[in-house]
Amino acid sequence: MIRVDGVGKAYDGIPVLHDVHFSVESGECFGIIGPNGSGKSTLLKLLSGVESPDAGHIWLDGRPIEAHSRKERARRIAVLQQEPLPAVGFTVRDVVEMGRFPFQNWLGEEREDAAQLIDAIIQMLGLSDLQHRTLEWLSGGEKQRVALAKAMAQQPRLLLLDEPTTYLDIGYQVQLMDMVRAWQRKEGVTVIAVLHDLNLASLYCDRLLLLQKGRPCRIGTPREIVRADVIREVYGTQPIVIDHPVRQSPQILLQSGSE
Ligand code: ADP
Ligand code: MG
Repeated sequence: MIRVDGVGKAYDGIPVLHDVHFSVESGECFGIIGPNGSGKSTLLKLLSGVESPDAGHIWLDGRPIEAHSRKERARRIAVLQQEPLPAVGFTVRDVVEMGRFPFQNWLGEEREDAAQLIDAIIQMLGLSDLQHRTLEWLSGGEKQRVALAKAMAQQPRLLLLDEPTTYLDIGYQVQLMDMVRAWQRKEGVTVIAVLHDLNLASLYCDRLLLLQKGRPCRIGTPREIVRADVIREVYGTQPIVIDHPVRQSPQILLQSGSE
């Protein structure tokens, strides 16, 4: 689906990513983790084509990403950001309909009517009662659900998430990730997610890429990456790692340093 081959990126002569290599298979949930400033968001911008690498190549479906037109990319790739959507007077339904822009001609018309698709998505994400409300009255969790609905309306093959749960409480974090996973399984979408929370990353991702100062430090299953020695080396804190009693994936417990 996507192949990253020796990618590097610098801003103002300062290297931010060096020699990044990995591939993501179709239908996979692939997590990108690493400390603040390790280059996670920059990598995601390269994957969406918003920014171009200074070195190396990114291949999407066997073609260099820059060979896909902007419109083609918008049909294949949807991005969900950390920040909830800005509230500028649009209703929930308006925003979800915006996901169809890449499929419309310059008159805003689409070959097939997307109303049924929009209805189904709104229902699936539990937004039916909110659909005619404007965004400014919604909570952060509701806005993130609207943003996900807009991404789903785009019917992408690849969904890129950049810390989508940052401003959400634990209930909404799990709800959002469960919705992404249910949709991913139903539609076979590939998901690449930058996740701040290592426990969420371990629970939801098939494989993880750990970045350290712009370099791919490790890549593997959550069990290979979420280990006390690896976390200590990269994050500079010594956690306790235990097995999740139900899901078997590794989970970390933080230790305070002073006792
Ligand atoms: P992360 O998402 O892992 O926190 P980022 O990819 O946002 O890291 O940033 C990695 C480094 O690149 C940081 O040092 C950041 O200051 C720098 N950086 C990111 N975007 C830009 C930019 N547009 N111009 C200059 N420096 C940037
Ligand atoms: Mg970031």
